Amino acid sequence: MNGPLLKVENLTKHYPLGSGLFKKSIPMIRAVEDVSFSVEAGETLCIVGESGCGKSTVARLLMRLVEPTGGRVLIEGTDIAGLTKGALRAWRRRMQMVFQDPYSSLNPRLTAGQIITEPVENFERLSRRQRNALAADLLRKVGMSREMMHRLPSELSGGQRQRLGIARALSLNPSLIIADEAVSALDVSVQAQILNLLLDLQQQMGIAFVFISHDLGVVEHIGHSVAVMYLGRLVELAPCEALFAKPVHPYTEALIAAAPVPDPTRVRLEAPVEGEVPSPIHPPSGCAFHPRCPLAVERCRVEVPALVPMGDGRVVACHVRAPLQDILHLMPVPGDHSLDPMVMSETFAARTSRERR
Ligand code: ADP
Ligand code: MG
Repeated sequence: MNGPLLKVENLTKHYPLGSGLFKKSIPMIRAVEDVSFSVEAGETLCIVGESGCGKSTVARLLMRLVEPTGGRVLIEGTDIAGLTKGALRAWRRRMQMVFQDPYSSLNPRLTAGQIITEPVENFERLSRRQRNALAADLLRKVGMSREMMHRLPSELSGGQRQRLGIARALSLNPSLIIADEAVSALDVSVQAQILNLLLDLQQQMGIAFVFISHDLGVVEHIGHSVAVMYLGRLVELAPCEALFAKPVHPYTEALIAAAPVPDPTRVRLEAPVEGEVPSPIHPPSGCAFHPRCPLAVERCRVEVPALVPMGDGRVVACHVRAPLQDILHLMPVPGDHSLDPMVMSETFAARTSRERR
């Protein structure tokens, strides 16, 4: 396969707020604004950010459960907007979702076995024997005994229900699983078990994950790369290790400082981010983070910062920590591959589109 499994280009979603008589006067909720990233087969991209920053909307756009206002979602190079119903159905087999609250997403009247074999039965008829064999196999994959197939969701613990949600997602052998706050409702010890399960499954089956969480502490051990969102926009996208070793965007820094530290020898950096997340209906001018940012200067109030490549596979949108003029000397020199060309071109496209505006 050439290129990434999943590529998102300038993805944007605005929701109209209520319905006005005059279309132009309807205020818009800017849920997702100009988001670009890619996910390689078998890898995990984590999306983090406070509640309301647009993470679930990105997930819904990836699954094409909602239509984008702008931008594209490409799977193996194919734009999903152009797919026919049949082709979209085929793609959906390969992309599955796991939700935060398995209890509300699992049918309470079906047994565990019925729940996890249902997606397959939407595509093909199974005999009773085939169904039992499939259920037992899926339960084994998520570390549950086959006897559990006769239980109802209400007879299972939170962790078991989440395993069931994962087994259901696995049933169609997906290439990509989108896990939206999949461990957020669980106790810390159960969280760790589920994260380990996801890591094992990835190793065994080569599944790629888009793992969404509001808690940076959770993503540290499972992400290959991390995308940090603030009020609909990406503010930092970096390889996981680099992000935790040295966050560049002041918002990333604040999130890491606020995350529970499992290692007591690790020093907490600064105070967690203060203040409320502003409204996505009237986002602050310039850099949306500026009202809460300890480093904000005048330029941050006026100009939206572009995502600038930092040369270590990371892009950051911050006038102070990643000023655009600082990287102009890094502009492509023939034969220099120190910067990812995709990231470079995206960054400069973003910059020129901003300048046009
Ligand atoms: P997150 O998952 O990061 O908490 P969401 O993607 O759910 O954030 O929401 C982003 C913003 O979009 C929020 O302000 C939310 O209220 C708004 N939003 C989400 N879905 C809808 C919708 N269907 N209609 C209107 N506004 C929405
Ligand atoms: Mg959400």
